[in-house]
Amino acid sequence: MPVLVMKFGGTSVATLDRIKRAAKRVGVEVAKGYDVIVIVSAMSGKTNELVGWVNETSPMYDAREYDAVVSSGENVTAGLMALTLQEMDVPARSWQGWQVPVKTTSSHSAARIEEIPTENIMGRFEQGMRVAVVAGFQGVSPEGRITTLGRGGSDTTAVAFAAAFGAERCDIYTDVDGVYTTDPRICEKARKLDRIAFEEMLELASLGAKVLQTRSVELAMRYKVRLRVLSSFEEQSDEAGTLVCDEDEIMESNVVAGVAHSRDEAKMTLLSVADRPGIAATIFTALSDANVNVDMIVQNISEEGRTDMTFSCPTDQVARADKALAAAKADGVLNFSELVADTNVCKVSVVGIGMRSHTGVAAKMFRVLSDEAINIKVITTSEIKISVLIDRKYMELAVQALHDAFELDKAG
Ligand code: ADP
Ligand code: ASP
Ligand code: MG
Repeated sequence: MPVLVMKFGGTSVATLDRIKRAAKRVGVEVAKGYDVIVIVSAMSGKTNELVGWVNETSPMYDAREYDAVVSSGENVTAGLMALTLQEMDVPARSWQGWQVPVKTTSSHSAARIEEIPTENIMGRFEQGMRVAVVAGFQGVSPEGRITTLGRGGSDTTAVAFAAAFGAERCDIYTDVDGVYTTDPRICEKARKLDRIAFEEMLELASLGAKVLQTRSVELAMRYKVRLRVLSSFEEQSDEAGTLVCDEDEIMESNVVAGVAHSRDEAKMTLLSVADRPGIAATIFTALSDANVNVDMIVQNISEEGRTDMTFSCPTDQVARADKALAAAKADGVLNFSELVADTNVCKVSVVGIGMRSHTGVAAKMFRVLSDEAINIKVITTSEIKISVLIDRKYMELAVQALHDAFELDKAG
């Protein structure tokens, strides 16, 4: 029988009633003849609560124990979903990551899936089981310890299962009815897209649109998984939601497909570093060894052999960056006068594959921000995106102004 993967996010399994509603959706697909793999998140708010407990207990926590704690939310919803399906007379069984097993790397809290053997679950489908409920977000390391896949990781679990089982489609049920031109929670004119290209979705996700975890889009693109985002709160047809697909399956599109934002960014500037070969390597090796995810980098013009180096990273990594660079200075491998951290910035980006062939997008973006008197602190570009770092207080304003200026409320 064909296999379908259905993933339910936190708000879709937040209460027993919502689990029932989701289970009914699963029942509809089972009745159509699919064997279904259901991937569940923890109840909404649960993972945050667990992370909070870990931080309170041990600020410099052991990542293996962090994973042991934060993976537990999904175990609860997997069992409850299987029970709910059984109550509806749908043959269902739950699996935790290690039982499948979802084999991952051992980078705790940010593990990558390496392999999902299918025999176990396939064997059960052959014996008449119709639904395998799998706890999302978790796996098991080569050392046999529980791992987690990073926040939003259940999306990646879902796509990885769809790829491993050759599923007909991977449906991501969430609290919005698809992928929008920008976060509908901060721009009321945001428009739902019927289709979006993998590459655009990949950029939007990595630039902050949390509707899909970046890694899930990467996997879908690589393994050609048909990926659909839709609401678990509305009646659904086969055409509902947004299909993430190849560029050539999209007839018309705007030059700019969407606007993304990332709230918790920090801008760090090293003042007066020596301008000579090897300095950038020294700085960014120290940061990488401390697991700091550096995003934008700018080096200023030098004067008398000294320069300033600016980079951005997530705000919760500022302390780690600070420590790593101070240690490099103390060791004598790096010399700078001061490290200035600005933790009140955010990143706003415009994304679109149309930018490959259209000029003027950057000029227009900068003009729009200037008309709103928003100062740009750092700029980066790639073939299909332009990102700026600006003061966080202007984030909503910038997103809305850009959405208006590029007329994203109208279809291209
Ligand atoms: P889930 O718990 O189902 O995984 P998430 O909260 O992780 O849900 O992702 C859904 C949220 O993503 C939406 O509520 C919305 O606020 C946010 N979001 C950000 N950018 C977009 C976008 N471009 N389109 C749709 N949703 C977006
Ligand atoms: N529960 C996990 C989180 O909140 C994984 C997920 O929901 O995708 O990050
Ligand atoms: Mg999510």
